[in-house]
Amino acid sequence: MPAWPLIDSALIRLFRFRTRGFLKMVDATGQVPRPPPDGECYLYVHIPFCASLCPFCSFHRVQHCHAQAGPYFTALRAEIRLYHEAGYRFTGVYFGGGTPTIEPEELRQTIALVRELFPVREISVETNPHELQPPLLELLRAAGVTRLSVGVQSFDNQLLRDMERYEKYGSAEEIIARLKSAAGLFPTLNVDLIFNQPHQSLASLERDLDLIRELGVTQVSCYPLMTAPSVKRRMTTAMGATDNARLRPFFDTILRRLQPDFTPTSAWCFTRRGTAGDEYIVAAENYVGVGSGAFSYLGGILYATTFSLAHYATQVGHGLTGITARHQLSAGDQIRYTLLVRMFGLRLDREWARARYGSRFFYTVWGELATLRLLGAARRTARGWQLTERGMYWLMLMMSEFFGSVNTYRDAMREHISGELEADLTLRSKVRPLLVAANPQSNSRA
Ligand code: SF4
Repeated sequence: MPAWPLIDSALIRLFRFRTRGFLKMVDATGQVPRPPPDGECYLYVHIPFCASLCPFCSFHRVQHCHAQAGPYFTALRAEIRLYHEAGYRFTGVYFGGGTPTIEPEELRQTIALVRELFPVREISVETNPHELQPPLLELLRAAGVTRLSVGVQSFDNQLLRDMERYEKYGSAEEIIARLKSAAGLFPTLNVDLIFNQPHQSLASLERDLDLIRELGVTQVSCYPLMTAPSVKRRMTTAMGATDNARLRPFFDTILRRLQPDFTPTSAWCFTRRGTAGDEYIVAAENYVGVGSGAFSYLGGILYATTFSLAHYATQVGHGLTGITARHQLSAGDQIRYTLLVRMFGLRLDREWARARYGSRFFYTVWGELATLRLLGAARRTARGWQLTERGMYWLMLMMSEFFGSVNTYRDAMREHISGELEADLTLRSKVRPLLVAANPQSNSRA
């Protein structure tokens, strides 16, 4: 239908307007926030180290350095203990990054601590294909990991070269072999794919999706290529310019190719056996982020921790969390945020919303709900509202837009600590040749 591009851009403009207040952060102390009444929420642990930095990546990540990573993990565990002492009761934990498995023994100790302190039912860990080696897989299994998520991004060797991942994280053939070796070892084996890459064709994406169906992968998360102003130039040089007009055909291909073997569990996550969902922000109403560059959402307040590793160590050393900024969402924004997250997770339960917010919920977002129904993006069910396939596309766009705002915030925070990042890079460029000369076998752990 020719009007789709107009509707897409009108919806995104409306979304930007309605969510413009979400990330207006102000300074905060590092005191532990008050826990939810029953103490229950989800834990996110951020590990920012990567063996090499991909040109498109806008996450909070730094070049891995073994000497820096050890103290960082020690501080992480101290921060997790602070939340335990304050009465938090985490029911699940997600280790994201960066590359959380880059220091396996430190990760093992951190998982062990979380399991000792909290009744966690789910332990989710992100990793890279390069890390999928038998010793690590055995360590993660023994540690009780229930979901392993592998950042594959593509099985197309040319696209892997564009992303500068071919040499560092392996060719498509190597990635396939490693995924096969991990199949069946964890209740959930997730693969992340990126679509709408500048040189990606529909045929290339179809081949990727066919491989997902053939390999023993139980879940796939398909993200549109997202970036941030700070990395846009480097990404365009390495990978080319993106064309958002191609988003819809790519997304339609994903829906067609994965179903019915896989069923959607969010607007961009598909699960083979209808088990665990992908987004902890969908599953949990409240979550705590620990580590540098992590976000928390607790009782309508958004918190962010410092992006400076040095400042993080200092704060935790003084018995504080890494929190340095916060934003109290207005009552209306809390409801709009809840609507975004719930509909992204495909459904909104009417009684749940009424119990949580009262009738105010429906007065606040009646316009949004009516628009979704009018456009065929959601339909009424006996329990509430259910997102349609058409609506999945728009929620995918809206969540990308939301993450775009988060990336802009990350850029601002990185700008704030640009002196530290530059000093760190200068130090590494001086130290690394000396270490390599002293030990030719040394790798990124130097
Ligand atoms: S895409 Fe993954 S591996 Fe690449 S820099 Fe970002 S977090 Fe690190």
